[in-house]
Amino acid sequence: MAKKDFNVITIGGGSAGLVSSYICAAVKAKVALIEKHKMGGDCLNTGCVPSKALIRSTKILSYIKRHKDYGLKSAEVTFDFAEVMERVQNVIKKVEPHDSIERYSNLGVDCITGAAKILSPHEVSVNGKTLTTKNIIIATGARPFVPPIKGLDQVDYLTTDNLWDIRELPKRLVIVGGGPIGCELAQCFARLGSKVTQIQRAADILPREDEEVAEIVRKRFTEEGVDVRVKSNTKEVVVENGKKFMVIENGGQTERIEFDQILLAVGRAANTKGFGLEDIGVKLAKNGTVEVDDYLRTTTYNNMYACGDVAGPYQFTHTAAHQAWYCAVNSLFSPLKKFKVDYRVIPWCTFTDPEVARVGLNEKEAKEKSIPYEVTRYNIDDLDRAIADSEDHGMLKVLTVPGKDIILGVTMVGHHAGDLIAEYVAAMKHGFGLNKILGTIHIYPTLAESNKFAAGEWKKAHAPQGLLNFAKKFHAWRR
Ligand SMILES: Cc1cc2nc3c(=O)[nH]c(=O)nc-3n(C[C@H](O)[C@H](O)[C@H](O)COP(=O)(O)OP(=O)(O)OC[C@H]3O[C@@H](n4cnc5c(N)ncnc54)[C@H](O)[C@@H]3O)c2cc1C
Repeated sequence: MAKKDFNVITIGGGSAGLVSSYICAAVKAKVALIEKHKMGGDCLNTGCVPSKALIRSTKILSYIKRHKDYGLKSAEVTFDFAEVMERVQNVIKKVEPHDSIERYSNLGVDCITGAAKILSPHEVSVNGKTLTTKNIIIATGARPFVPPIKGLDQVDYLTTDNLWDIRELPKRLVIVGGGPIGCELAQCFARLGSKVTQIQRAADILPREDEEVAEIVRKRFTEEGVDVRVKSNTKEVVVENGKKFMVIENGGQTERIEFDQILLAVGRAANTKGFGLEDIGVKLAKNGTVEVDDYLRTTTYNNMYACGDVAGPYQFTHTAAHQAWYCAVNSLFSPLKKFKVDYRVIPWCTFTDPEVARVGLNEKEAKEKSIPYEVTRYNIDDLDRAIADSEDHGMLKVLTVPGKDIILGVTMVGHHAGDLIAEYVAAMKHGFGLNKILGTIHIYPTLAESNKFAAGEWKKAHAPQGLLNFAKKFHAWRR
């Protein structure tokens, strides 16, 4: 049989494609990475990086507003929205080299700019040339889902794809969607000075999180001026005499909300069309992602793999990278050796202020799955460093196996929760429990001490009463 041009061709140069081709090259396989638009994909260009850069600028604005909390008599700020958005672009430019063609070429990846089309499970065409390959990794990502709202086509709506191009601050901004992306951006734009109305169909924003967690964030949003409309359906966009309205319905009542711009943040649809998958009959799952097995092989061809947003079930950069390892290793070494993807310990964070970070189960999921659990809480308003920083708000909630220190899940709400939860992620991944966290020295005064204090709360609740009674008598006898 004729030799193939490549061991692996990866389609898409976002987080999933970059990491899988990096790993293939690191173990000396011949790998091509085909990207049709920008290296770095969503994360670098329209997702994580720009959103976190914008969050940082708007956090500074919130501190200026809260200057009295820091003992400062007055603090004023003037800014030009366009310059804030230019800073976002500069941040992207600074990160860009990490995902660049130069870097990946130096790592040994054949980077090709162009739109890939799969001709067969072993052939991919790009720029008029057909390349042959032993395996294909599909890493084509996802795009903002545009809901079928009547009249939407009359307005130039924003999504996270084109939001980063605007240079004029929308005075009145309607954000459709109460998930992580909608929430992060709602707070950002409110802090920048837009009058933000956030429309959420579910009973609360951040519907995957426990009710009390969503409530903390919603209350903060309301305090900061975001008009949060829950249990509300978008019915229609109406344009009248040059004025734009979003018609929403809540409990049988309809209402018109006037807006200058509308941002859609209601989920992301997998990119599975237009590059040959349908021609060779690759099966899709009900939610539109590529259907894969436990080894991340497509269920249609066992030399074709998928990872990242196009495969789901998670849509994060770190899960794309996690899956990429399995795609790379399984494609190169199976059937000699192959690994089932491990989704047991998946963390994530919504970078609102306060941040909401989670790993493993929360109460909602534990109840849905009928998994018995105990809850230990630690309120961050008690933490010395948080008090010193005037960030003494939020909480830590740890779910454990009843009677044991084995961690089932953690939700953390507070300043830098996304960083702080890493200790619990490590604990869950490597199987150490709350006793070990309690027995670890944490630097004073740090926010990370909250992890230890939560473990301390658990220990207090599980103190061996019989032994302590005996100790009391022993000490009385020794006095
Ligand atoms: C506003 C926003 C904020 C986010 N914040 C976070 C966050 O804080 N943390 C986090 O973990 N995640 C975050 N995410 C999610 C994260 O960006 C995605 O999960 C991640 O980028 C998925 O990577 P991917 O490689 O699967 O897809 P993508 O990054 O979308 O990459 C797919 C690439 O494939 C290319 N492509 C598609 N078809 C073809 C073809 N036929 N030929 C060649 N190339 C093709 C595309 O051009 C694209 O570059 C955020 C997303 C958004 C939108």
